[in-house]
Amino acid sequence: MTPSLPVVALPRATGNGIVGRGEGWLSLDRDLRDSDGDRWYWHVRLTDADGPVEVRMARPGLIGGFGPAISRDGGAHYSWLADRYAVRDRFIVDVGRGEDVLISATLPYGRSDLHRFLDEAGEGMERTTVVLSEAGRPVPFLRLPAAGRLRSRLVLTARHHACEAIGSLVLEGVVLGMLDLRRNGVEWAAHTEVAAYPIVDVDGAESGDQGKARRPHDHNRDYGDVNRYAAVRAIRAAPLFDDVPVAVLDLHTPGLIGPLEERPFLVASGDAGDEEVVSSFAAGIGGGPQADPAVMVFDEPWNSTSGEGARCFAAWARNHPTVRLATSVEYPNAVVRGMPVSRGTAVRFGRRLADALGRVLD
Ligand SMILES: [Zn+2]
Repeated sequence: MTPSLPVVALPRATGNGIVGRGEGWLSLDRDLRDSDGDRWYWHVRLTDADGPVEVRMARPGLIGGFGPAISRDGGAHYSWLADRYAVRDRFIVDVGRGEDVLISATLPYGRSDLHRFLDEAGEGMERTTVVLSEAGRPVPFLRLPAAGRLRSRLVLTARHHACEAIGSLVLEGVVLGMLDLRRNGVEWAAHTEVAAYPIVDVDGAESGDQGKARRPHDHNRDYGDVNRYAAVRAIRAAPLFDDVPVAVLDLHTPGLIGPLEERPFLVASGDAGDEEVVSSFAAGIGGGPQADPAVMVFDEPWNSTSGEGARCFAAWARNHPTVRLATSVEYPNAVVRGMPVSRGTAVRFGRRLADALGRVLD
């Protein structure tokens, strides 16, 4: 007897996937939409089967080391299916009668997750809409004003690449870390304003797009002469880079599986002195194997202050004389040095970043 197959749909938000039906199994592929290349993000909803469902991936590299992330409570919590690290091309998930199961390549993060964070921790933070996205969604902007005299500013961005959900969790950690430093009376943190764009490509994140490598270019290559996206135009025009010393952390995630994808790293450029600045910041992060980041130098035109054409946010930011540090921070999507990524590991890493910023802004 072939097992009954579930009803398959995309979740209301952050959904992505192309599902086919075999004899007693489902096939699943990521939906590239308008992206190019080797993308990995998917997030689908299975309902109403009769026990175990076999899911076979359409290509390699679509499952992290601990299997897919699964939620049985409507997306409030996700946990990894497997206890042991393995390279997989299929998995089996239980879906009962009337049950609703969300499965994803990573821990998805959309606007409802941001609202949850702000409800829990947002006291003292100003929430503003500076601009509407192409689809009319508010691009979220958070501001934690300096207590007393403004001496420096921290600019945080996540989701220049829509699918890189863990970047938003790391951003939560940096904000929580800054709040803690203030509570503990750390002076530089009290006098530092925090300006944060937790979901830059809000349309892409809500729609479940890959976002990275969009044609003709994505949000993080939109800082050259041509600015396609409303969010990017708003960030460029924001009065964040004109007065006091600034640190910029642009939060990303790499791919899903493999040695390069399973450890945190900071991106330095070939700009004069930049590797030294990024390395000094990185050395202050520490925090053991799950946090301690590598530094990788990407000496490419898109990462250069003098680059023409499609340039990334960090390179654009470094052109301002006020900017002391501007780096892309990469934290893994599924596995961090052998351990499963969780909200806890990502937030802890973000807190370490906040601590280390004293080296830059104090
Ligand atoms: Zn990215």
